[in-house]
Amino acid sequence: MKKGEAFYEGKAKILYSTDDPDLIIQHFKDDATAFNAQKRGTIREKGVMNNRISEVLFKYLEAEGVPTHFVQRLTDRDMVVRRLQIIPVEVIVRNLVAGSLAKRLGLEEGIPLSRPVLEHCYKNDALGDPMVNTFHILALKWASESELKEIEKLAFQTNELLRVFFDRRNLILVDFKLEFGRHRGKILLGDEICPDTCRIWEKGTLEKLDKDRFRRDLGKVEDAYQEVCRRVCSE
Ligand code: UDP
Repeated sequence: MKKGEAFYEGKAKILYSTDDPDLIIQHFKDDATAFNAQKRGTIREKGVMNNRISEVLFKYLEAEGVPTHFVQRLTDRDMVVRRLQIIPVEVIVRNLVAGSLAKRLGLEEGIPLSRPVLEHCYKNDALGDPMVNTFHILALKWASESELKEIEKLAFQTNELLRVFFDRRNLILVDFKLEFGRHRGKILLGDEICPDTCRIWEKGTLEKLDKDRFRRDLGKVEDAYQEVCRRVCSE
């Protein structure tokens, strides 16, 4: 497959067109940003690990009935995916209190939620991805009612599947962010699923094994990504 022009460069990925208009190449970089890109750095080999982790998780989800944009991993840092018409909404699913939820509600991190919580944010870096609700999404026609229902169903289904997957590897899935898009009239899960977009804690010690190590200067950032990669890739 031929890599065409780069048509989008984000904080952690570059998207390239290919000779097939339906397919694009998602290239994973080592660059890391936090706090709306005020903090910048690199995490050595992060791109390679996130590409691998996303591949394994997308394949697992597909096999369990969640439609995704994943086609195949091409190289260490490149993945072929279907071109989606992206819905400009970030969907966050939470199992335990952490991050912005802890801050917003003045709650301690680590409190289990009695049922998963779903949040929506408007995908807009300049505005810092503000939280919106389903009324905003419908009124602004970012998605239709049936699309929103499908997204919600897929987000909860993904949560249940990933929770089990991580639990088997002695890891707790605290929260994560998903993005969806349209493809030939169908909603597909897009973007990536990796320690940049998920909070993952070690069962028992509750050690953080995700991007919070970078955000909060906890050290051993690369080791954490390596460990998640090793466990995700193990049977
Ligand atoms: N998240 C993400 N991209 C964003 C915002 C959040 O991948 O632009 C992920 C984040 O890694 C975490 C979950 O979504 O796993 C919930 O993030 P939260 O709202 O707590 O925000 P944060 O404290 O990470 O800024």
